[in-house]
Amino acid sequence: MIKKLLLSFLFFFCLLVCQGQHLPYAKEVVQKLASPAFKGRGYVEKGEQIAAQYVAEEFEKIGLKPFKKSYFQTFTTSVNTFPSAMMIALDGKEIVAGQDYLVEAGSPGLSGSFPVLSLSAEDILDEATLIQTLQESNKKFILIQDFDRKEFVKEQLQRIDEVISFLKYNPENPAAGTIILTSGKLTWGASTQQYSKPNIILKIDSTYTAINQISLEIGNQFYKNYKTQNVIGFMTGERSDSLMVYTAHYDHLGMMGENAIFPGANDNASGVAMLLSLAKHYQTHPPRFNTIFIAFGGEELGLLGSQYFVQNPLFDLSKIKFLVNFDITGTGEDGIQVVNGSVYREQFDRLTAINDEMELLSQVKIRGQACNSDHCMFDQMGVPCFFIYTLGGIQAYHDIYDRAETLPLTEFEDYLKLIVAFADEL
Ligand SMILES: [Zn+2]
Repeated sequence: MIKKLLLSFLFFFCLLVCQGQHLPYAKEVVQKLASPAFKGRGYVEKGEQIAAQYVAEEFEKIGLKPFKKSYFQTFTTSVNTFPSAMMIALDGKEIVAGQDYLVEAGSPGLSGSFPVLSLSAEDILDEATLIQTLQESNKKFILIQDFDRKEFVKEQLQRIDEVISFLKYNPENPAAGTIILTSGKLTWGASTQQYSKPNIILKIDSTYTAINQISLEIGNQFYKNYKTQNVIGFMTGERSDSLMVYTAHYDHLGMMGENAIFPGANDNASGVAMLLSLAKHYQTHPPRFNTIFIAFGGEELGLLGSQYFVQNPLFDLSKIKFLVNFDITGTGEDGIQVVNGSVYREQFDRLTAINDEMELLSQVKIRGQACNSDHCMFDQMGVPCFFIYTLGGIQAYHDIYDRAETLPLTEFEDYLKLIVAFADEL
């Protein structure tokens, strides 16, 4: 009987301690930020503002303090958006936004039906064919067929890319727009500019071989001065001579029309979940240094939030002992990759030593400098920093499939333990 009691006590104790303490909260954060109510955290229906508000509320619940009475640091940007109903039909057959096609982020709106002229890579390289197509292309769409880059030499590829770029972005191209066929995955972006004509990226599908006509209804709204924000909070540690900083961008791509939402669960609801989980951890285990938590806006538009922050810092950047940026934190089957690992070799070696000792992640991979997330702006100011992202698992990225339901957060708990132990040893 006693043995049985003891076993059940151990079982419940383990439920509390052995199991992930942070995972349920991290899942809740990812689900929330990637839910339809947050509109993909872009600039349609103020998705980014809804997300920033949520992050600030979590900061407050956790007990982080704001600088200057507010968690928000506001900045403005230009941005192109697609807020209204979107429709594209090819030879009368309607296709699905986000799943079958993307409208490039900088495209203007356009409505109507247009004949389609087709160009292959070989056609582009043949001057006579190219000129003839351009002469005929007024009020028509030019479709660029998919091609295998391996089949062309360097000079040819350069010429093909030049022509495609002219067709897509040069106002002197007489065509009404372009359709770019691709056999690859659809990967969307965000744009602070508006081009002269729409570019449609179309996934190759066996149900259509030739396309003679495109009908479309695209409505865009271009903002010259859209107000968005960073969300910043801090926690007092045992020492105030140096600062520890954690960052993660909360913004994402938003919506392409009324139906296609880009949820951004891995990119970067997962990073915000790490940011908030760390803050929660330090709430009950005071950190060694004064610690700052920043959720950046405008990252997908070109690191705008972090750029604004380093130009308008709320504290002395030279006091930063170390900064860790989280962007894509939702898997980890193949470990993590550490940008700036080879720049801050001593810190990197310590990170791997801790990982080996605690037997946490399968791999801690080293990488050099890369200006691919918000750490870059701090790196350029000489602030010691890492940008860490998880490797392996689901590959959804900048598409409608980067959803909370399929994001495993496989190594979230161990990853968090590693960061906490790393910060303790700095
Ligand atoms: Zn990201």
